[in-house]
Amino acid sequence: SITLAAADPEIKAAIDHELERQQSTLEMIASENFAPTAVMEAQGSVLTNKYAEGYPGKRYYGGCEHVDVIEQLAIDRVKALFGAEYANVQPHSGAQANAAAMFALLDPGDTILGLNLAHGGHLTHGMKINFSGKLYNVVPYHVREDDHRVDMAQVEALALEHRPKMIITGWSAYSRQLDFAEFRRIADLVGAFLLVDMAHFAGLVAAGLHPSPVPYADVVTTTTHKTLGGPRGGVILSRAGYSKKINSAVFPGQQGGPLQHVIAAKAVAFKMAATQDFRERQQRTLDGARALAGRLMEDDVARAGISVVTGGTDVHLVLVDLRNSELDGQQAEDRLHRIGITVNRNAVPFDPRPPMVSSGLRIGTPALATRGFGAGEFDEVADIIAAALSLDLTDELQAELRDRVAVLAEKFPLYPNLNGDLS
Ligand code: PLP
Repeated sequence: SITLAAADPEIKAAIDHELERQQSTLEMIASENFAPTAVMEAQGSVLTNKYAEGYPGKRYYGGCEHVDVIEQLAIDRVKALFGAEYANVQPHSGAQANAAAMFALLDPGDTILGLNLAHGGHLTHGMKINFSGKLYNVVPYHVREDDHRVDMAQVEALALEHRPKMIITGWSAYSRQLDFAEFRRIADLVGAFLLVDMAHFAGLVAAGLHPSPVPYADVVTTTTHKTLGGPRGGVILSRAGYSKKINSAVFPGQQGGPLQHVIAAKAVAFKMAATQDFRERQQRTLDGARALAGRLMEDDVARAGISVVTGGTDVHLVLVDLRNSELDGQQAEDRLHRIGITVNRNAVPFDPRPPMVSSGLRIGTPALATRGFGAGEFDEVADIIAAALSLDLTDELQAELRDRVAVLAEKFPLYPNLNGDLS
């Protein structure tokens, strides 16, 4: 056998640099997390060699006796974790989970109602050049201009007017809980399917710290790599009655061979998500986001024209509103990057700046909570961010803030025994 370092030193070096970047900076991209080494061990295994088209017990390839055990464990664990009647663990990603769920229940040309991308929705909820916007007739709903909360009155009015076949809810950039019961009521009014995409908040749901959409939705989709903290991938949950349609929409409808190495890693992550440790981590994630929102609403930050969308958060992220700030989203993202904090700029609702620049930042706490951050460290990181965004970032201040970031990063070593290799 030949090591990666010997076979491909360029890739090995880039992986080592990426490990070092993750270790030495503070990761606050709301959709990211750090997978446990046990998850990465499963993902970096011989399972990558195996073809297993089909489902456990019904494969189109021989030699599937062990991957059947793995996929069945993943299915059973995720069903138990979320109290779902049916699960499909094969979608390669969140986008593919959504594509398959829509493919299962809709025909091209059908009308879907989804949260507008600029108001916090995801590309797959009906963006014009995404498959969802090309295949289906999209009617977008929005947040209200005064409080930036999803406008349920508009959802109901649009549903009654356009009679969608599916209502989609869930978000990529929204800091409040959705009213799943109300979405169900509206879907029933017009005979629509309800799809909830819980990709962002699935970890909070698993921990019992966020209402579950499972009792209300026909179909729930999620990614496994955000708050859930597993490998990069997707899952579909639903009521038992849709199992045949969804299975055939995933394979052969959308995908060929499943990624059994990723499915094994998902199974490990689902097992871990059922533990007290995981619940405690999700609680720190929520507490950290609340502390950050609180700090970014204090007077010194407000004086710089910076505020927090919806005036707080109920979840793992904070949306910073820079519409009245001299800094745009790009400049704010760059400032934090220079002191070693990674976030992403994001449009805020009713954003006057173009999307590539935008007037917002999306800042999340899951990865730092995984790293071990508690109340004291989240207060410190909130204070660092407040200073970087609201003060004149002189070379001197930048160096001071970088040092404070480095202290935090060193306090919680990430993957201390990993040297770019999993062994
Ligand atoms: N759904 C939501 C709500 C998301 O935020 C995302 C990713 O950002 C996805 C789906 C897509 O997931 P993936 O990037 O795995 O395709």
